Amino acid sequence: MSLAVAYSRGRVGVAVPLVTVEVHLANGLPALNIVGLPETAVKESRDRVRAAIANAHFEFPMQRVTINLAPADLPKEGGRYDLAIALGILAATGQIPKKRLAEYECVGELSLSGEIRAVSGVLPVALACRDNGKALILPSANYAEAALIETVTLAPAEHLLEVSAYLNGQSPLPEPPVQAAPERIQEIPDFAEVKGQFHVKRALEIAAAGQHNMLMLGPPGTGKSMLAARLPSILPPLTEQQAIEAAAIASISDKGFDPKNWRRPPFRAPHHTASAAALVGGGGNPRPGEISLAHHGALFLDELPEFDRKVLEVLREPLETGQITISRAARQAEFPARFQMIAAMNPCPCGYLGDSSGRCHCTQEQVARYRNRISGPLLDRIDLHLDVPRLELSALTAAAPPGECSADIQSRVVAARQRAQARQGKANAWLTVKEINDICQPDPDGEQLLTTAMTRFALSHRAFHRILKVARTIADLACAEAIAPAHISEAIGLRRLDRGR
Ligand SMILES: [Zn+2]
Repeated sequence: MSLAVAYSRGRVGVAVPLVTVEVHLANGLPALNIVGLPETAVKESRDRVRAAIANAHFEFPMQRVTINLAPADLPKEGGRYDLAIALGILAATGQIPKKRLAEYECVGELSLSGEIRAVSGVLPVALACRDNGKALILPSANYAEAALIETVTLAPAEHLLEVSAYLNGQSPLPEPPVQAAPERIQEIPDFAEVKGQFHVKRALEIAAAGQHNMLMLGPPGTGKSMLAARLPSILPPLTEQQAIEAAAIASISDKGFDPKNWRRPPFRAPHHTASAAALVGGGGNPRPGEISLAHHGALFLDELPEFDRKVLEVLREPLETGQITISRAARQAEFPARFQMIAAMNPCPCGYLGDSSGRCHCTQEQVARYRNRISGPLLDRIDLHLDVPRLELSALTAAAPPGECSADIQSRVVAARQRAQARQGKANAWLTVKEINDICQPDPDGEQLLTTAMTRFALSHRAFHRILKVARTIADLACAEAIAPAHISEAIGLRRLDRGR
């Protein structure tokens, strides 16, 4: 009896558990059994591995071959273990050295002819592999993604024959695929192109600096989504750790991770008809939803009241904790979802409440019912709300001055974010009540102003804390140590819904 071991990685959510592939050869009727995968995956994997080994002109053992994948409770997609299974068989039959194989982890699906096909989630695999002190044999097609992890040793290959020749010391692996010169990064639209709406741009700058959630209220066609789409142009670039986390999530999504987006904060804008699974994640082997694909970036929800209310309620957990738990039958997966929510809605069902055209005939009751589609607890998680009114024509003419460019705004945002990071290790939006009491105390005049406003507008305790957090961000943008009355009053002005209709 002969035994060989190969290592691979499964995928459960963003986790990539180590999978040990043990190959036993025993005398008896020739057969190939795979233990530890669901029946259908076993059959497909068996067919591919057997054909790949034969078509690459290796010897397939005329013995009883038992493959044991441990741990046994693995998700269905079996293809990613093909390469490890085939190499394990080659090692058990002495066609490649066992010792050498054990220094590697391998992922890759095999074609019937022995070509190595791309698999999902390679970025987290490369990261785990590095932490495990092993080198990684992987499909060439996945190389660019894995190469973002700088200190991991990668052995990319296109065919089973290349891997065996390499492990036998007969030839080096072919050069990794040449990284295509980065295509011109798709331009993020710039704030310079937007005329007028200065108070909305200012609010987006504050939101970006403090990672505050924000809600825009305004009639259709006033540029709410156009303005939101420019938020990524002023967000700070991701740190390496954040970039790895964001890319790991993207790499297990349907579209995969595009290395061109490395270190760019994600911006996701799902339509209000999106299903719950598409929005928050789900499926048999759970896949991340939009809120996780927006991890460390922004999630834009246009026409907020049109989203399924149940779906919106699910957002409360990630908005509070920065992650989402998805349960499906026996399997449970956790995905990170620390996103910033930017939402937009009409002020009333017809959309024209408060518009100078006088088109709106919605009753107070209709308006209230419309706004109540957004629950109080969800609104409580939104720091900034403001009106986005229709612009006077004069603000839009060619003669109107262009807006400030995004790069200038971004430099202020980055500086403010660094102040917060140095002070408390996180953005202001994520301060707890206790931290707010410690960190966001206004100066005496500021305190006086806030007390007056609390009484006059009958503000809640929650509103009080929100205003202090936002005022802290405004002071940070002004490079001010103390929170002054000007900061407080600007923060109060960004709480539109506290003031009723
Ligand atoms: Zn109306």
